[in-house]
Amino acid sequence: MAEKSFKYVIVGGGVAAGYAAREFAKQGVKPGELAIISKEAVAPYERPALSKAYLFPESPARLPGFHVCVGSGGERLLTEWYKENGIELILSTEIVKADLAGKTLISAAGESFKYQILIIATGSTVIRLADFGVQGADAKNIFYLREIDDADKLVEAIRAKKNGKAVIVGGGYIGLELGAALRINNLEVSMVYPEPWCMPRLFTSGIAAFYESYYANKGIKIIKGTVAVGFSANEKGEVTEVKLKDGTVLEADIVVVGVGGRPLTTLFKGQVEEEKGGIKTDAFFKTSVPNVYAVGDVATFPLKLYNELRRVEHVDHSRKSAEQAVKAIKASEGVGPVEEYDYLPYFYSRAFDLSWQFYGDNVGEPVLFGDNNPASAKPKFGSYWIKDGKVVGAFLEGDNNPASAKPKFGSYWIKDGKVVGAFLEGGNPDENKAIAKVARIQPPVESLDQVKNEGLAFASKI
Ligand code: FAD
Repeated sequence: MAEKSFKYVIVGGGVAAGYAAREFAKQGVKPGELAIISKEAVAPYERPALSKAYLFPESPARLPGFHVCVGSGGERLLTEWYKENGIELILSTEIVKADLAGKTLISAAGESFKYQILIIATGSTVIRLADFGVQGADAKNIFYLREIDDADKLVEAIRAKKNGKAVIVGGGYIGLELGAALRINNLEVSMVYPEPWCMPRLFTSGIAAFYESYYANKGIKIIKGTVAVGFSANEKGEVTEVKLKDGTVLEADIVVVGVGGRPLTTLFKGQVEEEKGGIKTDAFFKTSVPNVYAVGDVATFPLKLYNELRRVEHVDHSRKSAEQAVKAIKASEGVGPVEEYDYLPYFYSRAFDLSWQFYGDNVGEPVLFGDNNPASAKPKFGSYWIKDGKVVGAFLEGDNNPASAKPKFGSYWIKDGKVVGAFLEGGNPDENKAIAKVARIQPPVESLDQVKNEGLAFASKI
């Protein structure tokens, strides 16, 4: 079988790969030196579009409109761009074996690729209900969303099941974005998740209450505290019902499952050091194997700001880590400087007319501020997270239901501390910049009441 050899190979052709290619071109790469090997059939694109504008009923986003690097306001890298820059795009090619000691990758078709320097950018895959043995989970019209092929199949089903019923399994950002997208497409939408509120890894109950009411006002039915345990299908094998653990049965023409992801590291198991479910790297995205780098969703890297190793599954980090790795590679060849990666976690989502951004760390005491009335014409609210505050007062009474037999509830008063995280719904670019600055600088606060009362003004004055 054919063997090809490159100086640099990026395995995986997603967001990180595209941003790495741009950085290589910027720093100087000779024709034939760099190859991107991707399972997908298209050049790298901005993956977040798949759960947003790609699903719009009118003027949906389509390639080539959202190839990288438009997501960060850059030039679109079309297939021709790679050609012009002498970068080989090896598409529809899945790597099934990686031999890091032998510096060789083998594809499903048996081709062999040699490299001197490898960047691992395989991203994540979805967790499937079938992995937990959920009965009937392989029925037709049960969808997961990771790649453009998945999105195309979903678009086809939305067209085929006009005005039908959709059930979203999972209350994370994929669930929330898909719930909105299907509702906008005029389907009757129910969402099911086991937690007491949506996006529990980031949202506080106060933040979630806004989105849940907003969704309810859009006609979306939210069922919390239970999970999907089985599906029924018709004679064509198409899903017809979702059975919940609490005994409820929901009719469904389309089901979308968003119950999390897992980094694609299997190819490299046993060959490279791992940590926290990802491939361990240093601040330059170098792994434990010489000349092998890992970026994006798969990398567990030192997050300098919090002095700990973390894995971050968000698009902003995939872009920046890719650029950092290329800078480090080039610096090791004597081209250009590179500084330690000093990342401020940033994550965003958009659904309906809503749009939020989050910066920093959601640890410590959350403080909600602003107008979080879901019926407002233009709601704008947020939350700060205050860490290292001192408890200076405490109050305790039974429970805060006046009708309880034995009420018990209480309150703490917290003084001092610093802001470590900031969330904002409905912010304009300047306001979003202000909350990013706050999360980076971590200004001290006098009390929780101070930031609650000042709200956005607290960030704007920093
Ligand atoms: P990916 O972009 O996933 O790219 C990995 C690539 O590697 C894929 O092309 C895959 O096919 C390929 N690959 C994997 N294994 C192999 C193999 N063995 N051989 C060849 N190729 C292989 N983040 C946000 O911050 N905000 C958002 O709003 C947001 N929305 C999202 C919406 C959706 C639907 C999804 C799926 C993700 C979203 N994310 C969002 C997360 C963000 O897209 C990811 O963090 C980012 O894409 C990670 O980049 P990556 O390059 O590491 O991986």
